[in-house]
Amino acid sequence: MPTNLLALNWKMNKTPSEARAWVGELTAQLPATAAELAIMAPAIALPAVAAELQGSALAIGGQDVSAHESGAYTGEISAAMLRDVGATYVIVGHSERRTYHAETSQVVAGKAAATIAGGLVPIVCVGEGLDVREKGEHVAYTLDQLRDSLAQVSLEGAHQLVIAYEPVWAIGTGKTATAQDAEELAAAIREALRGLYRDYADDVRILYGGSVKPGNIAEICTQPNVNGALVGGASLDVASVVGMAAAL
Ligand code: 13P
Repeated sequence: MPTNLLALNWKMNKTPSEARAWVGELTAQLPATAAELAIMAPAIALPAVAAELQGSALAIGGQDVSAHESGAYTGEISAAMLRDVGATYVIVGHSERRTYHAETSQVVAGKAAATIAGGLVPIVCVGEGLDVREKGEHVAYTLDQLRDSLAQVSLEGAHQLVIAYEPVWAIGTGKTATAQDAEELAAAIREALRGLYRDYADDVRILYGGSVKPGNIAEICTQPNVNGALVGGASLDVASVVGMAAAL
């Protein structure tokens, strides 16, 4: 069983100075936890977060990455740049990138491959919207997105892979999928990963994301195929992160 990963997705919140102060506050209060913690900060705050985390076991990661190695791509940030400031992880294909930046699964596939080539672990996000869920097509839709998003990740790359199932209707809405909903998709994703990567699939961490908080994280993360959480709103509050870490 892989170790649970608690990945904190700050989204577009916290300046570098705010980030540094927040991390100082967190590390002073963080209880011992069996889970691995990772802070997915805005890229510009990563050096401040890394400096404040010196000597701690917490990992850091980016929220997006370019599919290109380097070159004339104004505004983009490469995997090598993220790695250079100490990142281990990067989120790719978050539903907010898919929705507001028109990222298709083909684009996400290029980013996942570039992430692995750059020595980082991609947290590949998939999940259906409310319309798809209401039609009962959520499993097929999410698995299609998964296969397309992993189209460039080889068997070897599967050693360096995290998947996050984030149903869009549960993100920032306070509507949490039930632990059974999370497990239904996590089990289907595991099975699809077995088809792609054989036994390596058992080592891939599958996270759930969508209105996770201290009160529901334990039930969700003890489902057989769920290996952690990708947390948005509750990741901004020290007391909530302390509560979630203690629950894992
Ligand atoms: P919330 O935890 O705010 O619902 O956000 C989930 C998410 O999008 C994490 O990536």
